[in-house]
Amino acid sequence: MPELEKVFKRIDGYREEVIQIQAELTSRKALGPENGGTGEHEKAGFIMELFKKMNPDILDEIRAPDERAQDGYRPSLIAQWKNSKKEMTVWVLSHSDIVPPGDLSLWNSDPYKTRVEGDRIIGRGVEDNQHGFISSYLALKAVLDSGYELNRTVGLAAVADEETGSAYGLGYLLKKHGEQFNKNDLIIVPDGGNEDGTMIEVAEKSMLWVKFTVTGKQCHASTPDKGKNSLFGAARLIVTLERLKKKFNISDDLFRPPISTFEPTKMEANVPNINTIPGRDIFYVDCRILPCYRVDEIFAACREIGDETGSELGLEIQVEITYREDAKEPTSPDAPVVKSLTKAIKRVTGKDARPMGIGGGTVAAFFRQAGLPVAVWSTVSDTAHQPNEYCLISNVLADAKVFACLYMD
Ligand SMILES: [Zn+2]
Repeated sequence: MPELEKVFKRIDGYREEVIQIQAELTSRKALGPENGGTGEHEKAGFIMELFKKMNPDILDEIRAPDERAQDGYRPSLIAQWKNSKKEMTVWVLSHSDIVPPGDLSLWNSDPYKTRVEGDRIIGRGVEDNQHGFISSYLALKAVLDSGYELNRTVGLAAVADEETGSAYGLGYLLKKHGEQFNKNDLIIVPDGGNEDGTMIEVAEKSMLWVKFTVTGKQCHASTPDKGKNSLFGAARLIVTLERLKKKFNISDDLFRPPISTFEPTKMEANVPNINTIPGRDIFYVDCRILPCYRVDEIFAACREIGDETGSELGLEIQVEITYREDAKEPTSPDAPVVKSLTKAIKRVTGKDARPMGIGGGTVAAFFRQAGLPVAVWSTVSDTAHQPNEYCLISNVLADAKVFACLYMD
């Protein structure tokens, strides 16, 4: 298709645009209240102006009430460029908020002033999630500036609050304006991926965080028979919990890693001195569970192991859930959004992408919950949330070409 080639050429000329928009977006700190900020207003305002210049058919600011934020709300934007011939919309949804820079001494420069080093742009937010926004935006700009027609309706969304749970972002948007999105739409969330752009995320594992409280009896270390050592109990319990791996050992190659994982992670402090036997120990296990298992059966197994170890050692062991998120129905690896993306990626980079499942925690879960097929995809170096976060200009441009294919297909 010669038209597509011309659009690609135009995108190749957008290096300066990428640098400039990254600088503008990065300078507008979009931190939610839980991250010490007042919201995404300034950044959303800048994005709104970019959208307006492209004459969208629909442009809406959705205001999720949040009294902690500036003016009492959190702004999410949706814009649409219509094509009346087809009912289906290609949606690309990115988020405007960022996480704080963290320890400033780990940054080589001001996180809110972008720095360019060859192909690299460095700054807070450049990858997560400005990369995704800019590639979807420049793709559309390239098509429209070339004077070509869209072959599908294109929808771009820039939502708030992705970094702190999405209740004031996509969660609110779907609750109040869910009718915007359709089962036949191609919905892409460019907020995750791998370095060569071959990973299309379609499924997530369930998440379960379990708290184990082991209670014994504190006493002097020289007279262990006068107490009950809770640290020994916790250690035995951690080892016994390895049984979960054997019991729930189904492997599914769609996922990376292909198995469910059960990892002891956080351990709370017990006694401050060495010559006291502790009477209470608390630790946590992070479970990422393949969707073929129910979260309840995993938790029941944790309890059973806790009871068994407790009665064996004469300790009281309490087992509680501190967080759970049950896996949503995965997007089919054969869904049109996956097929279209795979084809477009092949066209642009020559690479074979494949659908995959990950450990959980992306905003796509909200779409899946609503029964909407969605693919998480982008070409990223995985520096999100890190100091000296960066994106590669060449990746932003390549991703823009993939989006252009989807808009013009
Ligand atoms: Zn993100």
